[in-house]
Amino acid sequence: MIDTQPQVKNSEIFNTMARMEHEQLVFCHDEVLGLKAIIAVHNTVLGPAMGGTRMWNYQSEEEAVKDALRLSRGMTFKNAIAGLNIGGGKAVIIGDAKKIKTEALMRRFGKFVHSLNGKYWTAEDVNMSARDMEYIRMETPYVTGIPESMGGSGDPSPVTAYGVYIGMKASAKKAYGSDNLKGKKIVVQGAGNVGTYLIEHLLKEEAIVHVSDIFEDKLAAVTKKFNVSVVDPKDLYTMDMDIYAPCALGATLNDITIPQLKCAIVAGAANNQLDEEDHHAEMLKNRGIIYAPDFLINSGGITNVYYEQQGNYNRQRVYEQTERIYEVCQEVLEYAENNETTTHQAALQLALNRIKDVGKVKLAY
Ligand code: NAD
Repeated sequence: MIDTQPQVKNSEIFNTMARMEHEQLVFCHDEVLGLKAIIAVHNTVLGPAMGGTRMWNYQSEEEAVKDALRLSRGMTFKNAIAGLNIGGGKAVIIGDAKKIKTEALMRRFGKFVHSLNGKYWTAEDVNMSARDMEYIRMETPYVTGIPESMGGSGDPSPVTAYGVYIGMKASAKKAYGSDNLKGKKIVVQGAGNVGTYLIEHLLKEEAIVHVSDIFEDKLAAVTKKFNVSVVDPKDLYTMDMDIYAPCALGATLNDITIPQLKCAIVAGAANNQLDEEDHHAEMLKNRGIIYAPDFLINSGGITNVYYEQQGNYNRQRVYEQTERIYEVCQEVLEYAENNETTTHQAALQLALNRIKDVGKVKLAY
C-alpha cells in the first residue's frame, strides 16, 4: 500500500540548498534493485555539471545528502579554477558496493543520469570502476572517463599525478626560490594510483621519497618498483620533511596533525584535505606552511575527462592544460600573500571570479 503520509525528516533541505547555492537535487530510487542515489547539481553557469559518482555505505540518508551537496559544490570550484567550461555536480549511491553493486543497478542509475538530458555528466569516483562506467554508458551518453578500449580517455590518475607534481613545484618556487625538488624530503601518503605516478615524477627529479600506506601489498608493489623508504602511518605527521603529499584520504589536515607537521609545503592529490576548510587553512597559514589548494592541484583528472566529454580528446592538449596549474598556483600563492588571506580562500576567490566573469560573457549575444 502506498503511504500517503510521508515523513519528511529533513525539512532543512531547501534552506541548505539556498545557503550552499545549489541548483538541483535529484533523488533516484528503485525498490527492486535496491538503488538509492542522489544527484546534486550545484552550478551550471560555466556549462553542464560534471563530477563523479561515489558509492558509499552511508550511516544515514542525511549523511549521503550532505556528502552530495558538499562534493558537488567542490566540483564547481575545481572545474572553474581548472579553466574548464563545465559546472559542478556529483552523485552518490547509498550502499555497500561489495554487496549491492550489479550491472542492473548501474544501468538503472545510468537511466536516471540520462533523464537529466546532459545537465549532469558522471564519471568514476570512490568505489566505482571503469566497468561500472561501461554499464552506465549502455544507458546514457552522459558519462565520461570510460576505458580506452571503448573510445574513452582511460585512467585519469597519471594526469592527476602530473598536476600535483606541477603544483608542488610552483609551491617549492615560492618556499625556496627554486622549483627544483632535487634532495627535497617528500612524504607521499598513499601508494595508490595517483601516489605511485607522483612518486615516479619525484624520483626523476632526484627527490628523497618516503611513502606510507595502510596496506602491505601496496607498499610491497611500490618499494619493488622504486627506491623509496617506508614510513609507518603513525609516525608520518611528526617526521622531519620538506613536503607532505596527502594522496590517500581527506581531512588529514586537522587540529591534531597541523601542530605536529614539520614541513614547508603541503601539496597532494587527496580531495578535501582540510578537515574544516577555513579554520585549518588559517592554522596552516599561521604556522607558515604553504598549502597548495587540493582542488586546484588535483584537477588534472577532471581535465582529462573533460576533453573526453568534449569529444576531441587529445592527450597532449590535456597535459598542456594541466601544466597551467603551475601559473595558477603561483597566482593563488601571491594573491594570498598580498591579501593576507589563506591560499584556500585565494583559490576559491579565483574560481568565483571566473564563474562571475564568464557568466557575464555568456549573457552577450
Ligand atoms: P587509491 O585508492 O588508488 O589510493 C589511495 C591509497 O591510500 C590506497 O593505497 C590506500 O591503501 C591508501 N590509504 C588509505 N588510508 C591511508 C592512510 N591512513 N595512510 C596511508 N595510506 C592510506 O586512490 P587514488 O585514485 O590514488 O586517489 C588518491 C586520492 O586522490 C583520493 O583522495 C582521491 O579522491 C584523490 N583524487 C584522485 C584523482 C584520480 O585521478 N585518481 C583525481 C582527483 C583526486
